[in-house]
Amino acid sequence: MTKTLLDEMRTQAERLGFSLPDELLTEIAESTQSDSDSDFEATVSSGTDRGHVADDAENALLAVYDEPRVHTDSGILAGVTVAVKDNIAVADLEMTCGSAAYALVPSFDAPAVSRLLDEGATLVGKANMEPFAMGPTGEFSDFGHVTNPLDPDRVAGGSSSGSAAAVAAGTVDVALGTDTGGSIRIPAACCGVVGVKPSHRLVPRYGFVDFAPSLDTIGPISTDVQTGAKALATMAGPDPRDPTAANRPMDPDAVDETLDSPEGLTVGVPDTPFDRSDERVADAVREVVDRLEDLGITVEPVELDLGETEFAYLSIGSAEFSWLLAGNGVVRGQGTGYSEELRDAFERARNEGLGEHVARRILPPAFLDATTGGAVYASARREGIAFGERLATVFEQVDAIVTPTLRSLPPGLGETTTRDDFIPLLGNTAPFNIAGTPAVSVPVTTLDGHPVSAQAIAPQFEDSRALQVARSLERVAD
Ligand code: GLN
Repeated sequence: MTKTLLDEMRTQAERLGFSLPDELLTEIAESTQSDSDSDFEATVSSGTDRGHVADDAENALLAVYDEPRVHTDSGILAGVTVAVKDNIAVADLEMTCGSAAYALVPSFDAPAVSRLLDEGATLVGKANMEPFAMGPTGEFSDFGHVTNPLDPDRVAGGSSSGSAAAVAAGTVDVALGTDTGGSIRIPAACCGVVGVKPSHRLVPRYGFVDFAPSLDTIGPISTDVQTGAKALATMAGPDPRDPTAANRPMDPDAVDETLDSPEGLTVGVPDTPFDRSDERVADAVREVVDRLEDLGITVEPVELDLGETEFAYLSIGSAEFSWLLAGNGVVRGQGTGYSEELRDAFERARNEGLGEHVARRILPPAFLDATTGGAVYASARREGIAFGERLATVFEQVDAIVTPTLRSLPPGLGETTTRDDFIPLLGNTAPFNIAGTPAVSVPVTTLDGHPVSAQAIAPQFEDSRALQVARSLERVAD
């Protein structure tokens, strides 16, 4: 490698607060040069270094209240126990974002959290996660690997690993996750539970530590669609502290009526998300989708080219995070990091250095962004916009579409090491972050004893319709 390439990578690393040995910088620079042969090391942590209060068997929870917090015993979520992913502020509980570099005890609850409390939820504590929400497997938290309650030899999925594992283990009824490229749906699918990724901007993100503000969402993971729908409806709607939050409130009391009346809907089965999935997974999902006809839904094939959106996602996500690093947690116009507490904590973490896991993910796109004057980001964005237009055409023909959530079965521990290994996990999920649509993942069958999930997708802000189709899939599931 030429000296100038290493120098440039060092400049980018220093600018973003990373202090890394030349050897590692060289390796990252080389992987930046050739897309497909980056070789991430799988360093599965032992789980012995957490030092946190909770001590559940899955390592799914981090800080928990001594006594679960309840604001009111009436409301649509009365008696529902909740955990919150550790990149969302909860008053008086330590917040880590899954990273040893980040530490904060917020003085306030994020609006997503206070709204659940106001509807009677019982708040248990924080859920473990991949550092700064990066990583699709749940193996990389600085506070230890999260165990998949269904099968300890398979990954729990990420980055909301603790949220999905806590629900699957029965530790809580609902757990908030965040989804930038699949981080609610991927672990939900790996752990055999429901994951609700809302429309972008439906749930206010104030009090959340952004990853990629143009893609980030907060949503619930639950054992069934109805509970997830109630939690989502409770959290939706504007909040003045998040300048991007849409004025699209949902009525939690209307959830029960709409979920079970899908008659007359038309659901599309799009070609490329199935064609790019393992054949057995694709066939298993197709078979369940066909049964939707029994509920009065019309099912028909549609053409939808995912294009290169999987790779566009990786560029967009990492580039936006590098801007957050440079801007101490704020991307003006898009970000929600307007809380001074969170910004200070983010700046301290940045000065500390976010560690190797984040560096490997962030530096290649940051490098490309800086050295191409943003051209790589712009072309990724154009790819995403073109996909959104193709999807809009599909939604002129059908009310919703259904795809396999994961393209494969949940991978074994330590198997997901290169960027290419991410694609079976996030290839079918990330495109819908780019498009901003709701996407609800539901377990529908099993293969060789492992869960297989389908995701229901509707146009942006038609979250109720995506939930209706997800509920229908739940009804016809094996
Ligand atoms: N797991 C995916 C990744 O690592 C998605 C991340 C996310 O949605 N936060 O990029």
